[in-house]
Amino acid sequence: MSFQSIPKVELHLHLEGAAPPKFIAGLAREKNIDISKIFDEKGNYAYQGFAEFLNTYEAACQPLKTPQDFYRLTLAVLEETAKHGVVYAETFVSPDFCGGGDVTLWREYLAAMQEAANEAERDFGITLRGIITAIRHFGPEQAKTAAKCAAETYGDFVVGFGMAGAEMEGRPTDFAYSFDMAREAGLPLTCHAGEWGGPDMVADTIRDLGVNRIGHGINAIQDPKLLSEIAEKGVVLEVCPGSNVVLGAVKDWASHPIQKLRDAGVAVTVSTDDPPFFHTTMTYEFEMLAKTFGWDEKDFAEVNQTALKAAYCDEATRAKIAKLLEPAQ
Ligand SMILES: [Zn+2]
Repeated sequence: MSFQSIPKVELHLHLEGAAPPKFIAGLAREKNIDISKIFDEKGNYAYQGFAEFLNTYEAACQPLKTPQDFYRLTLAVLEETAKHGVVYAETFVSPDFCGGGDVTLWREYLAAMQEAANEAERDFGITLRGIITAIRHFGPEQAKTAAKCAAETYGDFVVGFGMAGAEMEGRPTDFAYSFDMAREAGLPLTCHAGEWGGPDMVADTIRDLGVNRIGHGINAIQDPKLLSEIAEKGVVLEVCPGSNVVLGAVKDWASHPIQKLRDAGVAVTVSTDDPPFFHTTMTYEFEMLAKTFGWDEKDFAEVNQTALKAAYCDEATRAKIAKLLEPAQ
C-alpha cells in the first residue's frame, strides 16, 4: 500500500503553520527581515517546547504581510499538501494576521487566499475551505473581532469558526460571546481543547462554546464518562498524532490514545496541524498509524469518511469529494 497515494481529507491545518520553511525564508529575504534564528542548519524550523514553538510560529509569520503574500502562501501550502494525497483540506486562518481584525482589510486577504485556492483546485486537484480562527492568547476582546470577520464573510470559502493558540489562557466561557456571534451567523464551530488541558477543558468547551468538533481532544481519554458523552453527541475529534508526539503532549507514538478513542466509539479524524514545524506530512501520519497500530486500508477509509462527514463544506462539495475517495476500480 502506498500511503502517499491514498486520497485523504484533512480538517486541522493551520495555514501559516503549514508554510514551507523555504518559502518563509525566501519571503523574509525579499523583505529584508532577519528571522534566521528560527531556522536550523538544514533550513527547518527550530524550537524546543510549546512556548518556544508559539514564538517561532509568530516569527515565521512576520514576513507574511500583504494579501499577495497570503496568495503565495496558500499556493505553496496547497502544492505541498496535495503531494500527499490530500483532496480536501480545511485550514485555520486568522484575521489577526490578515489586517489585524479589520473587516475591510480581511476581505482583501480572503479574496487573495480564495484566488489561490481556486488555482490550486485546478492545478493540483485539492479543494480548500477556511475556518476563521481566533487566537486564544490574544484574549476575549480580540476574539470578538475574529468572530465578526467570520460572520461578515461566511459562505463559499469561509465555512466555519474556531479558536487556536495557547489553550491554558482563560476558560472557554470567556470566549462564549464570540462563539455565540459566529453561531448566530450560521457558522459551525470547532475549538482546540484537551491537547494540554484535561478532560474538564474538553467538557467545558463542548458545553460553553457549543462546538461540534474539537481540535485534538486527546486528553478526553482520561474520563470514560466524557468519552461516552462525546461519542453519543457525535462530537468529532481532529486528532494530530505527529504534532502531539513532537510537542510532547504524549510520550511517543505507542502511547498516543487515537486507537483507544476509536475503540470507545469516538469519531476520530487525522491531520498534521503544522506539518513542517512537526516534521510531518499526511503520508507520514498514515505510515506511522499503520506501523504503530496496524491500521490498514479499511481504517484509513473510515477516518476519511468520518472527516468528510464532519467537513464544514456545502453538500455539493461533499458529494464531489466523496467520489474522489472511492477506491479505484
Ligand atoms: Zn492546531
